[in-house]
Amino acid sequence: MTPESAEFPREPDLSADVVIIGSGATGLPAAIVAADAGASVLVVETNYDVGGHAIISGGNVPLGGGTSAQRKYGIEDSPDTVFADLTDWSVVQVNGFPDYRYSDRAVIRAFADHCAETYEFLVANGVKFKEIPPDSQGAHSTGNSAHRENHTYWEHGAGLASPNGRPGTGLVRPLELSAREKGVKFLLNYKMSGIIREGGPGQPSGRVLGIAAEYTPTVMPGATAPLLSYRSEGNIDRTEAKLTIRAHKAVIVATGGSTSNINFRRMFDPRLTEVYQVAGEPYSYQDASGELAAMAVGASLWGLANQILENGDNIRVQRALGTRWNYFPWKLESPIFPLVRAAGLAVKDWHDLILVNQVGERFYDETQGDYPEGNKHKDIDPYTPGDHRNTHVEYDPHHSNFFNAAVAMNAGSKAPDYSGGPVWAIFDSAAVEREGWKVTPPYVDPEGYFFTADTLAELAAAIENPWQAVPMTGTALEETVRRYNGFVDSGTDEDFGKPSPKYKIEKPPFHAAWGTPLVHDSRAGLRINEKCQVLDMNGQVIPGLYCGGESAGGFNQHGMGRCTVQGLIAGREAAAER
Ligand SMILES: Cc1cc2nc3c(=O)[nH]c(=O)nc-3n(C[C@H](O)[C@H](O)[C@H](O)COP(=O)(O)OP(=O)(O)OC[C@H]3O[C@@H](n4cnc5c(N)ncnc54)[C@H](O)[C@@H]3O)c2cc1C
Repeated sequence: MTPESAEFPREPDLSADVVIIGSGATGLPAAIVAADAGASVLVVETNYDVGGHAIISGGNVPLGGGTSAQRKYGIEDSPDTVFADLTDWSVVQVNGFPDYRYSDRAVIRAFADHCAETYEFLVANGVKFKEIPPDSQGAHSTGNSAHRENHTYWEHGAGLASPNGRPGTGLVRPLELSAREKGVKFLLNYKMSGIIREGGPGQPSGRVLGIAAEYTPTVMPGATAPLLSYRSEGNIDRTEAKLTIRAHKAVIVATGGSTSNINFRRMFDPRLTEVYQVAGEPYSYQDASGELAAMAVGASLWGLANQILENGDNIRVQRALGTRWNYFPWKLESPIFPLVRAAGLAVKDWHDLILVNQVGERFYDETQGDYPEGNKHKDIDPYTPGDHRNTHVEYDPHHSNFFNAAVAMNAGSKAPDYSGGPVWAIFDSAAVEREGWKVTPPYVDPEGYFFTADTLAELAAAIENPWQAVPMTGTALEETVRRYNGFVDSGTDEDFGKPSPKYKIEKPPFHAAWGTPLVHDSRAGLRINEKCQVLDMNGQVIPGLYCGGESAGGFNQHGMGRCTVQGLIAGREAAAER
């Protein structure tokens, strides 16, 4: 079957040597490297602007192996040390889950060998990291032997327009500028809806030829015109409902993962029903479109165990209360604020509230954080690589068990999904004063995510939300608060060990704010080899198809280290195709 076949139009609407789907932490490095190698490059992005999760990320980029930053500050590291660290089966978390046991050795070897190079590549393409020694702030499963976390930053007004003023802007905007300057073309507002491979839908075999894409403009509620991207040079201006795009050399799937796709994520963890949102939404969605399109042409998934390990960044505690999109507070000036609806309330002191499940019961010491963060520099000390004694950690049932506790209780769940339901933060007006919160829109969302009443019974009755499977009873909430206030009097939380509970909940009005945890990372995805080529169910390369970042499987590490490195590898290898 040739490109002129029924599966691919004789005259595609657009074409390029390398077609990259997604413009985040993987897509942008891939585009630059491919352009550097002389390929014509087209980035297809469903959003109105570039960046994906990367632009709203915390900007912590785990890259080591002997970077210039590590050398500058006297940190010893090498590709072999990175490889040994990230394949050390003996490292486990306090809940017993292993960080590195289920990662693919070939994928990790490729990462280790290109890690330092990628750091220098980012710097050469305009990314500025803070002038501080690499550390382990924000690091998850970056290895025990060396500090490897580097930090980009965002400065207001420095030519770095940002959807939410987040440090990840400092990674994305310089890479975007570099890509545009190198002639990379961007087709924004188009979503890849299928990968086209020789042989057609029934019997895919042979090369990947290109993709199909559909027009997906982003129009804010109340507006008529779609949002525009910050930069426009190199943008391809099309508005047809459907386009076909020919890739002369290769297609790179850089679509960011699968956690926004509820059916897909529930293949790994049936608990993760619609109630849970995903960090990064509603700016960008990890909807598994890359995985599904690749699977439709024969690709295999890989490293699936990593998706259900309860450590690191798989599932996170909310950072902002009273809003559906609650991983962090949203800025009122964000161009997508009409979608976000409410900024959310950031918590300074977790003694100011209690968290209850949908039937009004506490389940947790609210001062605890997320899951264990994942092994990083000197988490095990002394550390002997590969020594079985590294696994002798003390199991800590109270440590970082938010999601486990919330969902394990599962009280009030109903068929067919038996979801754990929402989690509500309950507090009084004294807490509002202490925290300095504004409990009116646009800081909270009273349409389903924030409620106020003069009594606890009225508050429970007021809670109405699509995911509340059963009504919370006033008696249950009153009893929970009565018992908690007793713990404040006695100084001891007999139920969950919150250290010396400080404040009673007693001064009306009372508030209930959405505080449901969220899904964060995709750790399972398409099977790739060391060149980031996608493999099929027989372990054979699918010619012309590459993948990197959160849509790729076999690598249990949070974030942009693996994404940028795999972007570099995929872009280089794709451009080298004949
Ligand atoms: C709030 C937040 C904070 C974070 N903080 C950090 C941090 O500090 N350090 C760190 O290392 N990691 C962090 N991360 C994780 C990090 O941002 C991601 O791991 C990384 O951006 C993933 O890169 P990616 O290229 O795989 O996907 P993304 O960066 O999400 O890019 C994927 C892109 O593909 C597009 N896309 C998807 N499907 C299609 C389709 N069918 N057609 C066209 N386009 C499509 C998406 O719109 C998106 O723009 C954070 C993530 C979030 C959400």
